[in-house]
Amino acid sequence: MREPVLAIHGGCGAIPNAELTPATDKAARAGLHRALEVGFKVLKAGGNAFDAVAESIVILEDDPVFNAGFGAALNREGVHELDSSLMDGATGRAGAVAGAKRIRNPVRVARALMENADPLLLIVQAADDWAEAHGFEMVENSYFTTASRRESLTLMLEREVSGDVSPVSERDKHGTVGAVALDSHGHLAAATSTGGYTAKPAGRVGDSPIIGAGTWADDRTCAISGTGKGELFIRLSFGHEVHARMLYQGLTLEAAINGLIHDQMSALGVGAGACAVDRDGNVMLPYNTEGMYRGWIRPEGVFVAIHET
Ligand code: ASP
Repeated sequence: MREPVLAIHGGCGAIPNAELTPATDKAARAGLHRALEVGFKVLKAGGNAFDAVAESIVILEDDPVFNAGFGAALNREGVHELDSSLMDGATGRAGAVAGAKRIRNPVRVARALMENADPLLLIVQAADDWAEAHGFEMVENSYFTTASRRESLTLMLEREVSGDVSPVSERDKHGTVGAVALDSHGHLAAATSTGGYTAKPAGRVGDSPIIGAGTWADDRTCAISGTGKGELFIRLSFGHEVHARMLYQGLTLEAAINGLIHDQMSALGVGAGACAVDRDGNVMLPYNTEGMYRGWIRPEGVFVAIHET
């Protein structure tokens, strides 16, 4: 039996330290703790890594602090288009949805698609229809909207009209939730869910539902979920690239992941972060932005942080 471990991120677009109110700080930390505890309960009971990551993500999707499910970012037309994926490192199976508009918990549908094996990825109306036909909880698109996401959209659209090119807050650029786990049978899994970024064009799909980009798991190496500028994660095949550097170059998880996030992505000025665990249970939670909602849990304890702490 292996000692299980679960790690999560709530996006590398954490609210800047100076703007983080005590109430939001408390709410974010409480949400991270809940997600860790719920996922770890599955692992402690001898459950699968892929069930643990799915259960953890459901908690974050239901929490308005994070950009996934309820509280997800709005696209420029004021509509939520949700992306999610999940991968099982033991079998290499995966499932994903992109551009879903009415699925309350997209990760649950990604998980179900994984178990159905074919198709792996469903988009937009087909994702919603499949979810509805398979009995998943469906909601109106407006269910996902919060006052704060509405304000962010208004602000972003006003900036465009006024030609304001000052830097956009990290919160508006990034946000995603991710979970990775090593279960007591030695198997790995990863899952990711997101609303993308505020004022994204309708139909834009990021890295989160793309297996090998925002999500990857392979028992031989690691499980990883990314957050940050999705276009670059796709171009780099981020998740698979970390795995490949470990498998073919013999790098540690730390060296593989830092080479991408701190060297390559930082050099391009792109905000990026990830949660990852290797087959030995080593956890990495790197980010190159001001903060990333993040945490891990294992039998010895639990860790949660937003900025440095
Ligand atoms: N990776 C997500 C996307 O591009 C957003 C983020 O994590 O910041 O959709």
